[in-house]
Amino acid sequence: MNIVIAGPGGAGKGTLVGRLMARDPNLWLSRSWTTRAQRPGEADDAYVFATPEEFQAHVDAGGFVEWVEFLDYRQGTPVADPPEGTDVVYEIDVHGAKAILEHDPDALFVFVTTPTPEIQEARLRGRGDPPEIIAKRLAKAAEEHDLARSLRAHVVVNDDLIQALHEIEALVADARARVG
Ligand code: ADP
Ligand code: 5GP
Repeated sequence: MNIVIAGPGGAGKGTLVGRLMARDPNLWLSRSWTTRAQRPGEADDAYVFATPEEFQAHVDAGGFVEWVEFLDYRQGTPVADPPEGTDVVYEIDVHGAKAILEHDPDALFVFVTTPTPEIQEARLRGRGDPPEIIAKRLAKAAEEHDLARSLRAHVVVNDDLIQALHEIEALVADARARVG
C-alpha cells in the first residue's frame, strides 16, 4: 500500500512521519531528492541532497516517479524498491500526492494541517526558517488546502502531536483492513 503524507510547511509532517516510522516496522519511507541546502539541525539522511546538475541528470535518466519545483528548489521521489510486504510512506507536497494518486488511486492520502495559520507561522519560526521562506510557505498554504480537498484527502489537524499520530495510525489501520 502507498501512504502519502502532505501538508503545508510547518504543519508537523516530518515530526509525525518520524514517530510513525519508529512505531511501525512495516512502514518504509521513500527518501526524496532535493536541490535545497540542508537546514541547520536537519538529519543527513532527511533527503538525498543533490546539486541542480545531479538532479537534472536523474530526471533525464527517468529516475523519478514525480518531481516538483517547490519555492525555488526541486524535490523528487526516486523510483524505489521497498522490501516485500512493507507499506511505502511518501512525505511530499500536494502536487506530488496528486501524481502518486494518479499511479495508484487506492493510495491513502493524509493531509496534515495546523489549527490556524498563526500556529503554522509560529512553528516555522520556532524551527528557524528565515522570514522570507516563512512568508512563501504561508502564501502557499491556501492553494495546498484547496488541492488536498479536491483530491479528497483525509485531513488531520496537528494540534496535540500524540492525538494526530493516533489519528494517522487509525487511518493506516483502516486502509490496511480495506486493502487486504
Ligand atoms: P513540516 O515537516 O510539516 O514542515 P515539522 O515536522 O518540521 O513540519 O514541524 C515544524 C515545527 O513544529 C517543528 O519545530 C516541530 O517540532 C513543531 N511541531 C510539530 N508538531 C507539533 C505539535 N503538535 N505541537 C507543537 N509543535 C509541533
Ligand atoms: P522542505 O523543503 O520543507 O523539506 O519540503 C518542502 C515541501 O516539499 C514539503 O511539502 C515536502 O513534503 C515536499 N516534498 C519533499 N520531498 C518531495 C518530493 O519528492 N516530491 C514532492 N512533490 N514534494 C516533496
